[in-house]
Amino acid sequence: MKVVYIGLGSNLSGAMGEPKEQLEHALKALASHSQIALIDVSSNYKTKAIGPGSQPDYINAVALIQTALEPLTLLDHLQFIEQQHDRERTIHWGARTLDLDILMYGTLTIETPRLTVPHPRIKERAFVLAPLLDLNPNLLLPNGQSVAQLLANCPEQGIFKL
Ligand code: ATP
Ligand code: CA
Ligand code: CA
Repeated sequence: MKVVYIGLGSNLSGAMGEPKEQLEHALKALASHSQIALIDVSSNYKTKAIGPGSQPDYINAVALIQTALEPLTLLDHLQFIEQQHDRERTIHWGARTLDLDILMYGTLTIETPRLTVPHPRIKERAFVLAPLLDLNPNLLLPNGQSVAQLLANCPEQGIFKL
């Protein structure tokens, strides 16, 4: 079993409801997999969108799971859950009903065309670093960098803990 951190985000309503409900339902979907144990979930954060154009604010959170699924199998499953939540891939970084990213997978470093772990943009995203820190104040990236230090170095990004 590996300890894995999953980033969740939504800024559009979908079949499962408003962004907050989309996240709640996605967590239930994750937990219902026989090879995934949902261990803990951060607070929700209301955050400003970083993508193109003007977009509604996001709700973001991070989940801590334990899983026996291999990284690509886990990614397949996350994308399956996104589909169940009406995720459409049109504009890169456009508004979305549900986004599930693998932030960290144990201490593994992966660089393949389909999957990069740790997620390549963790360090510049307060909306990922802050909830990671909620779950583990002492968390280190596989390269030894402290998440707390990275957040301290991160320019203010309009995140609001709910
Ligand atoms: P960002 O990656 O900047 O957060 P995004 O989440 O909007 O952007 P998506 O359109 O959801 O990007 O995903 C594009 C592709 O990124 C996915 O199809 C997947 O193959 C790839 N990918 C690479 N690394 C990861 C990862 N760690 N977690 C999830 N997807 C990843
Ligand atoms: Ca993302
Ligand atoms: Ca994604």
